[in-house]
This record gives sequence, structure tokens and C-alpha cells, in this order.
Amino acid sequence: MALDSERWFSEPFGEEGIAFSLELKEKLHEEQTPYQRIEVYETTRWGRLLVIDGCVMLTSRDNFTYHEMMSHPVLFTHPAPRNVLIIGGGDCGMLQEVLKHRGVAHCTQVDIDAGVTRASERFFPELCGANDDPRATLRFEDGVQYIKDLGAGSVDVLIVDSTDPVGPAAGLFGEAFFRDVHRAVADDGLIVQQSESPILHVDTLLRELHGAMRRAGFTRVVTLQYPVCSYPSGWWSATMAGKGADLTQFRAGDVERKPFRTQYYNAAIHRGALAVPEFCRHLLTDQ
Ligand code: SAM
Repeated sequence: MALDSERWFSEPFGEEGIAFSLELKEKLHEEQTPYQRIEVYETTRWGRLLVIDGCVMLTSRDNFTYHEMMSHPVLFTHPAPRNVLIIGGGDCGMLQEVLKHRGVAHCTQVDIDAGVTRASERFFPELCGANDDPRATLRFEDGVQYIKDLGAGSVDVLIVDSTDPVGPAAGLFGEAFFRDVHRAVADDGLIVQQSESPILHVDTLLRELHGAMRRAGFTRVVTLQYPVCSYPSGWWSATMAGKGADLTQFRAGDVERKPFRTQYYNAAIHRGALAVPEFCRHLLTDQ
């Protein structure tokens, strides 16, 4: 049965022979910014849908797994994160999770495209609850250049919440970028990067990312897995890197006592996300 393109949003992953579709009620917004095409839809069962350049960025219903697993594991792995930087993340959902951590003194979000944040403020206000937090700074510029200009050792945790590694995000996945990151993060600093689907990208993006992080000087690299129903294959990952400490250890006691609510993340989920499937074992040399 062919899907009616008026009623269904479809994102085909041609080279993988799969596609993901969501049933639509209506299109709410469409704009072409200097960087990308932004669309927002109302779906029948998944709340609102944010699309950039034809790719699903998030839905109201399932964005919590992505935002929680890209923020809390790295923040509970660092001993005491105070200065946090988000590259990308223009929908502001990551900023909101980061600022749930009371010990975080400052979080700067650097997205290249103010259009994404303006669309999120209008159509996803539930993600923008921390935008006016006095600890938050929102900047609109290229994250690759921003990192180059940062003082050495000035960041505790860097979260790269980017689009796929094409267009403006291509520079956020290479060795040159990770060299700049290595300089910008403190000795106990950590980076976490969204690293696509284990089943689709283990021998392409994931292998290259591990190699690039290690060549840039990071001695510890681990990949965590979690579901994101609306991303290609539904099975997603975050790759975390550091300069020495064992990244499989985290502040589990603090997770148990965390003074804020999560919908997915807890200490058992954190441990489980670190488990390495047999088909990934060759690249995860730390675990
Ligand atoms: N969770 C999403 C995913 O994995 O598909 C990503 C969502 S977030 C909206 C991605 C953001 O990265 C976009 O707002 C985009 O503008 C931003 N971005 C892409 N390249 C960038 C760059 N070089 N510097 C800063 N932000 C960038």
C-alpha cells in the first residue's frame, strides 16, 4: 500500500532500504533559513514533529530518550561539571536537561541557526523552559569556529547535539574538530557526540568517530546505546570521550538521589546503555 504523501511525512534511508513515516494532521510551519529548511508538523499520534532538510529532528512524544541520554550520562560521569557547552541543540531540549543539574554554573548553547530556536520557542515551548535561566547563554554562530576561539581547558562537559554529518554539521565529526575540543576541555573534561545508529553505522560513522577522537588525543572512548523511535532504525547512540578517567564509572549514588525527574534515565539504564553488543566489540576497546 503506497502512503499518501499529503497525509504522511516519510524519511527514506535509501541506501539502507528502509523508511520511517508519521501520519500528519497538518503542516504548521515551513521556512528556508540561510543554513537549512525547517518544517514543523502536527502529527496524529506523536505530537509535533520538527524536520530539518527532510530529516526528523524530534517529535514531542519520543525526544526525551535522546535529550536525557545525551546529557545525564556524561554529566554524572564527570566528577563535578560546572561549565557546560552545547554545540547545536537549537531546539533547546538539551539545555533544559543540563540545567536540571544544580551544580552546573553556566551552560552556553551555540547553534548556527537562530531559526531553529525561534521555531522551537513557538512550536515546542515545553523544550524551552530553561531559556531564561540566568545560567543559560544562547549564541547563534558556527560551533566549529566557536571551539577554535575558546580558551584552553575552559569547558567541563561539551555536548555535540548536531544534525547528521552533512552540510553545516560535517565539520563537527572530524579529527580537526576533536583536536580543538581536546584543547578546550579541562584535564577531567568530557565530550559526548550523537553518533547515529549502531546497527546502521557501526563500521562507518562509529568506527571513524572512535578513530578521530583517539587520534585527537582522547584516550578513553565509549559508546552508549538507547532507543529513539523516530530516528533511522530506532536504535541510537552517544559516544563519550575523555582524557584518562574510566568512562564506565559514574556517580551512581548521585543518580539515585537526583533532585529532578527523568522519564527514561536512571542508574540501571546508564549501566545497561554501556553494555557492548558482540557486533560492536571490535571498536569499543575501552570496555
Ligand atoms: N537531535 C537531532 C538529531 O540527532 O537529529 C539534532 C537536533 S538539533 C535541532 C541539531 C542542530 O545542529 C540544528 O539546530 C543545527 O542548526 C545545528 N548545527 C548544525 N551544524 C552546526 C554547526 N556547525 N554549529 C552549530 N550548530 C550546528
